[in-house]
Amino acid sequence: AKKDSGSAYRFFEPEMDRIESERRQMAIELRRAVIENEFELHFQPIMSVKTGQLRGFEALIRWSHPTRGMVSPAEFVPVAEEIGLIEQLGAWVMDEACREAAGWPHSLIVAVNVSAQQFGGGKLVSGVERALAESGLHANRLEIEITESVLLNETDDNIEILRQLRGLGVRIALDDFGTGYSSMGYLTKFPFSRIKIDRSFVRNIRENVGSRAIVRAIIGLGSSLGMDITAEGVETSEQLDVLRDENCGELQGYLFSPPIPRQNLGPVIEAYCGD
Ligand code: C2E
Ligand code: CA
Ligand code: CA
Ligand code: CA
Repeated sequence: AKKDSGSAYRFFEPEMDRIESERRQMAIELRRAVIENEFELHFQPIMSVKTGQLRGFEALIRWSHPTRGMVSPAEFVPVAEEIGLIEQLGAWVMDEACREAAGWPHSLIVAVNVSAQQFGGGKLVSGVERALAESGLHANRLEIEITESVLLNETDDNIEILRQLRGLGVRIALDDFGTGYSSMGYLTKFPFSRIKIDRSFVRNIRENVGSRAIVRAIIGLGSSLGMDITAEGVETSEQLDVLRDENCGELQGYLFSPPIPRQNLGPVIEAYCGD
């Protein structure tokens, strides 16, 4: 910084220190939370747009902190990735999600988020195999959600891991689609089972012709590649109307349901599952 840029410089440095020390504190707390088992999984319904039937659930991790209450994964997952804790946490999520899903009707799938960091550790494929074997869940009922970041670095190695997962019979979804760059090109790198349209496009799909055009393009391209399409973050019936007009296959969002604790899944399955 310039010598006399003075106040701004002095203002930002303590601010950076504060953020850094909060991160360090969270890292300590996270390590403790893993030992104390303070995590739980919630499940958000994935619905067919056409039939209104339940297709499955996305597993989303929750941290129930003894004094802070529920901490958002948007806050702690990046820290867990940074300090190398995500492999352990991710393995726990995989085990729990598969075990839970094994008790659902067989038409329902479970979607599990997997970080790019979990691809580097060398244990992802064996961990998935173990979770499937121990739960008895059929591989084609497990869907692994990745983001474009998995395809950004170590691409060849990660594609090989995706192939191995596909070889087990597991489905692979591309999450948050449209938020990265050169997105369309990624669709040709690997035969994904599903594309999830990021909620930033869904949010203003009615007012913004650009968003609607992008959604239409994603649905057109994905469908022609044989992929299923899910719209994320659907909050209003107006958004649903547009998505229906655009032939979007599936939706997730507060309009139907937020993520819910496992003990409350029964009535949803009862009311919306076809079998
Ligand atoms: P994501 O995978 O994109 O998950 C969707 C997020 O959108 C979830 O936030 C969900 O609660 C929220 N959401 C669902 N419907 C709506 C809606 O209608 N409106 C709005 N505004 N939001 C909606 P959540 O649970 O806080 O998770 C945030 C992110 O944390 C996830 O984004 C994912 O990237 C990460 N995450 C969550 N669980 C796990 C996990 O088990 N492993 C890993 N690696 N990451 C996870
Ligand atoms: Ca996801
Ligand atoms: Ca997403
Ligand atoms: Ca996300």
